[in-house]
Order: sequence, then structure tokens, then C-alpha cells
Amino acid sequence: MHTFHPDQIDVPSGHFIDGRLLRPAQAAGLAVSRPSDGRHQAELPLADAAMVDQAVENAWTRWRASDWSRRPPRERARVLRRWADLVEADGAVLAPLEAVGSTRPLREALAWDVPFTAEGLRFFAEYADKLGGEVAATRSDHLGLTVTEPYGVVGAITPWNFPLVMASWKVGAALAAGNAVVLKPSELTPFSVLRLAELALQAGVPAGLFNIVQGDGRTAGEALSRHPRIAKMTFTGSTRTGAAIMSACALHGPKPVTLELGGKSPQLVFDDVPDLDRLAATIAGAITGNAGQVCVAGSRLIVQRRIAEPLVERIVQRFEALRPGPTWDAAATLAPIISPAQAARIAGIVERSHGAGAHTRCGGTLAQVGSGGAYWRPTLIEGVAASNPAVLEEIFGPVLTVQVFDSEEEGLALAAHEHYGLAAGVHTADLGRALRAMRAIQAGTVWINRYGRSDDFVIPTGGYHQSGIGKDLGRQAVEANLRVKSVLIDFASPQ
Ligand code: NAD
Repeated sequence: MHTFHPDQIDVPSGHFIDGRLLRPAQAAGLAVSRPSDGRHQAELPLADAAMVDQAVENAWTRWRASDWSRRPPRERARVLRRWADLVEADGAVLAPLEAVGSTRPLREALAWDVPFTAEGLRFFAEYADKLGGEVAATRSDHLGLTVTEPYGVVGAITPWNFPLVMASWKVGAALAAGNAVVLKPSELTPFSVLRLAELALQAGVPAGLFNIVQGDGRTAGEALSRHPRIAKMTFTGSTRTGAAIMSACALHGPKPVTLELGGKSPQLVFDDVPDLDRLAATIAGAITGNAGQVCVAGSRLIVQRRIAEPLVERIVQRFEALRPGPTWDAAATLAPIISPAQAARIAGIVERSHGAGAHTRCGGTLAQVGSGGAYWRPTLIEGVAASNPAVLEEIFGPVLTVQVFDSEEEGLALAAHEHYGLAAGVHTADLGRALRAMRAIQAGTVWINRYGRSDDFVIPTGGYHQSGIGKDLGRQAVEANLRVKSVLIDFASPQ
């Protein structure tokens, strides 16, 4: 049965430093609530700059003392694979822990978040011995080489929407490349990653190589980004925070930074699609999964006129069939919004979109759910101009705008976004048209006749423009955790 009693989940709290759960007695605390019912979940200690400094210095000392970066890469891979196995076998603990503290329904945490986390770790493990350097084409009495080396201590900051998966992408890639990591998870969903760290230790990741500091962005997040011993930062979250982290990295380094940021991804639909029912399911799923709190949510439907009305009708039916409810309610099919503040933000954008001339075909309000918590009814907004706030701004909720076009050129123009370029969907039976659209759309990922991530971890993910810099997943994610050293050997004559 995909259910549990929320009060019966044992929620660990604290920092995780040097292989131990740490709860400083006098530290300032933050009361963290459960998104599903707004009830108190646990008290979170908030790291100040001194605490972050302690965690980073310790990671640095441990990294230098341990043989993690020097041991044969296949041995590192073996540890990471063991970690993945432990994560996979821990579904009964990890999935309810993830579900109670986030917007991830238990059913999905069991079927997707936990196995996807484990498989991602395996993917990174497989790269441990695959990314050496190259031999360069130098003159024949020289030998030119590049060798790859880890940075040392990598700082990682993650958002609240998929706490385990987002953390595993950052930590798995950094560890596989031979680094140590200090992770600061979102203060809204800080607990499940503690279990991930415990399992890493059990698998044989040396103590002090994977650390967690808890805290808010302005204090702990900034202290981490600025810390002189952090040689590289990796971040997933909003564009505004990404810019703040990048400037901290510029001023206090400079050091490289990977940024996975916001999006406003289009679903471009041409009128030759063969199966409207199937397409409606794809489009509805891409904006209601995790209640739209997904960076790559397909939030702008751009549809060719002839099929606009029948497609919209089918999407509305699917929206209205969803049943909001707590993550532990096995019958619920729509997740909660992370916080009342985020629900108010959604309401604000929807209201402004009305002010700009749009109208709501369905949804548009909070859903009444007896449990408490904030639930937003899946919302479809029509009559939007390209300048409408609901078209321009990332809403991060189950809100879909609809724009209608006639010609291919017009559709492509509407699909473009002034700032964001994270992902896009193109739906058509015409291969040439699909490929023209793929080339024209300025986004880090284009899905053709599907939408959303698959378990092809080898496909990198990341954005264009204000949606980010660099990639998570793929070979590129591991490469981003490695520096390149050039070596030139002169053997022209005996020395
Ligand atoms: P957020 O930017 O508010 O917070 C993300 C993290 O940054 C949190 O851990 C927060 O504490 C920290 N932070 C905040 N201010 C900081 C500062 N000044 N310095 C350092 N750290 C700071 O984002 P969020 O609301 O948690 O997540 C939602 C956003 O994340 C959306 O914009 C979404 O699109 C984006 N996201 C992107 C991807 C991707 O792969 N591109 C994936 C998931 C989420």
C-alpha cells in the first residue's frame, strides 16, 4: 500500500560533517513544516558562517588525508555502486522520508525518486575510469598529454523540488571525479539527504568526503559559495540565486560554477499529430507532475489552430480528473505546493495575467483539501498575449498557458522565450518540421514527440540563456568536476 502515517516517520535532523550527524546545542533553529498538511516536521539547525567554515575546512583536511582521489578509479566506482545498491534497497525508509518532507508522493518516491537516485549514482560510478586525458599532436620528439584531476572540495546547493535526485546528481558526479563535497540542501526540504549521506558512509565513502550543512541561502549558502577552499560550485535553483552565487564565485575565486536554473518551456504542437488523446496526456502530465514544480515543466502550450480546441478540451478533462491530496494519500494524484508563500506567488501571477487580458478556462484557485497544506487546482489560461506575465514568468505550479498559431514560422516565434531556454517539446508527424524546430529553438533540451526526462542518464541536462551554464548528467557533468593539467615531455636529446 502506498501510504504511511506522517507522525510515525523518524525524521533525522542536523548537519552531517565528518561522517557524523551534528546537532549544535545553541544554534539558531528553523521550524520546518510538512508541505502536505502544514504541520511541524522538525527543527533544523541553521549553520552560520563559522559552521560552514568548519565543515569546509574539515572536508579539505579529510580529502587531502584520504586516498579517495588517488585510489584506482575502479575502486572508487565500486564504492559508489555499493552506495547505489544501499539506496535502492532503502526504499522503505528513504521514500517515506522524502514524501513526508517534500511534495513527492510516496508512490512516486518509491517508483521513481529512489530508484532514479540509485541509478544516477551508478551512472556516475561508471565514469570514474572513463575520463582520463588525451595525447596531443605535438612535434615528434615531444610528448604532449593532458591529465584530469579533481578540484578538491566542491560546494553544492540544491532546491526543494526533488531533494534526493537533485542532490545525487551533484554529489555523485563530484565524488566519482575524486572530489569531496559540501552540500547545502534547501532549508524547505533538508532531511532526506541526511539518510543519503549515512548510506554513503556505510558504502565506504570515507568520512568527511560527503558533508551536509543546513541553513538558509543568505547565510549558509553565501558562506559556502564564498569560501576560499571551495574550488568549484554547482547549483540548481532559481535564476536570481544562480546569479548571486556566480558573483560570489567571481569575487571570491574566481572559481567555476555550474548553474541549473529556471525555465518556461514551450510545448509546440502541429496539427498533424496522430493521437490527440495520447498527446493530451503528455501535455497535462508535463505541467501537473509534482504539481508543476519542475524546472522543465512544459508550461506554455503553443498549438496549431485546427486542433487547438479539441486538444485543450482533452487537457482540461485531464486537469479536472486530478485529485489533490497529501503525499501519503494513496488515492491522491496531485501533489501539494511546497509552501503557502509559493501558493500565494502562483495566485499573484494568475491574477496579474487576468489583469493583462487573459482568462482562466479551468482551475485558477486553491483546492480545498481537508488535510491543510496548499494545493493549487490545475489551471489553463487562454487569451494570453506574448507579453502576459503568465507567459513570461516561471510560475512553478500547475498552470498552463495556451497560444494558438497558424504557420510554422509563427509557432516557432511564439516558442522562443526572451530569457529562458531550458527545454522544449515539439509534437509533429513531419520529420523535417520536427528537425527545423529543433534547430530553431534555443534551449538546452528539445524533446520530439515525447516530453520529460528518460532514464538515459547519458543525455546531459542544462539550459541556454538565463536557464543556466553547464550540464548535470551526461559525460559533461563528470567533466565539470575535473580540472585539466597539460604535460609536455621533451625527449629530443638525452639530458
Ligand atoms: P532558490 O533559488 O530559491 O533556492 C535554491 C537553493 O539556493 C536553496 O538551497 C537556497 O537556500 C539557496 N540560496 C538562496 N539564496 C542563496 C544565496 N544568496 N546564496 C547561496 N544560496 C542561496 O530555488 P528553489 O525555490 O529552491 O527552487 C526552484 C527553482 O529551481 C526554480 O526556478 C526551478 O526552475 C529551479 N530548478 C532548476 C533545475 C534545473 O535542472 N535547471 C532543477 C530543479 C529546479
